[in-house]
Amino acid sequence: MIQSVAFIGLGAMGYRMASHLPRHFDTVYVWNRSFEKAKQHATEYGTQAVELSQAVQADIIFSCLPTSADVAQLVENLELKPGTIWVDCTSGVPDLARQLVTQLKNQGVDYLDAPVSGQTIGADNATLTVMVGGDFTAFERAYPAMQAFGKLIKHVGESGAGFAVKAVNNMLLAVNLWSVAEGFTTLKAHGVNLGEALDCINASSGKSGVTETIFPQRVLNRSFPVTFALPLLAKDAGIALDLVHAAKLPAPLIALTQSLIQAANQTAEENSDFSAAVKMYESWSKITLE
Ligand code: NDP
Repeated sequence: MIQSVAFIGLGAMGYRMASHLPRHFDTVYVWNRSFEKAKQHATEYGTQAVELSQAVQADIIFSCLPTSADVAQLVENLELKPGTIWVDCTSGVPDLARQLVTQLKNQGVDYLDAPVSGQTIGADNATLTVMVGGDFTAFERAYPAMQAFGKLIKHVGESGAGFAVKAVNNMLLAVNLWSVAEGFTTLKAHGVNLGEALDCINASSGKSGVTETIFPQRVLNRSFPVTFALPLLAKDAGIALDLVHAAKLPAPLIALTQSLIQAANQTAEENSDFSAAVKMYESWSKITLE
């Protein structure tokens, strides 16, 4: 029986994910590095903003930080209670998940890598996909807590498997984003109406999440709302490429796309959304996608 839950890291995703917890659990602790955000969350949603040392006394601890390294650094000096399950919703590194499993086992704590997809809108609507790696019994125990913000919740394998699925998913997003930018630039160069072209492609075999939502809602209307930062996509592309290398596989498309996204990240304005990666291609083609 889960009595208490905690959420650590109230960023673009965590703030929204944690907002659903009070409807399911009586005791919901929140903690954030900039503590004002935790206090604001408590006021808005009835959670309890507490010190980190208190938050980690919960039965289930969620975290959603930028990188696995941030989580590892946080875990370093914490005293946890045996029987706790740490559910890490960061999009992280599989090797570090396995390290954290070993480290936390010493304190009698289970660690699950449980990254999410569905963007901030999925976090708002509690319709996220949660891909979980790690001990299956811990997964089953943590399942009711993950249901607070997840719609499809899957155990995908041993520790690190959740992070691996997430990295490959985001690499597919990046490949799609780049290829749609090239395709639509070509259409524009040939005088085609991009809105009409989008309708046709979304009813055809070339459609993808990028053509269905990212292009119409972020690129073609030039809004590029910053909900998933470009450095985070660049990080995920790097994790995917590392997985390819670790498996000693040839993967030219993944290698090329990782390079493109890294270059786009290095040349982008500060605080850019991931969709702004297409602006690098626009600067090459001198054609604006609108
Ligand atoms: P944000 O940058 O919006 O939030 C990051 C959060 O982590 C903030 O609360 C920040 O605190 C905290 N933080 C950063 N560094 C540290 C640290 N060293 N120690 C403690 N806390 C820290 O990121 P997102 O919410 O967008 O992303 C979080 C994770 O979720 C990432 O791994 C990302 O790849 C993944 N993700 C993001 C999605 C999105 O659409 N945004 C979708 C799916 C997954 P502070 O407020 O003090 O800065």
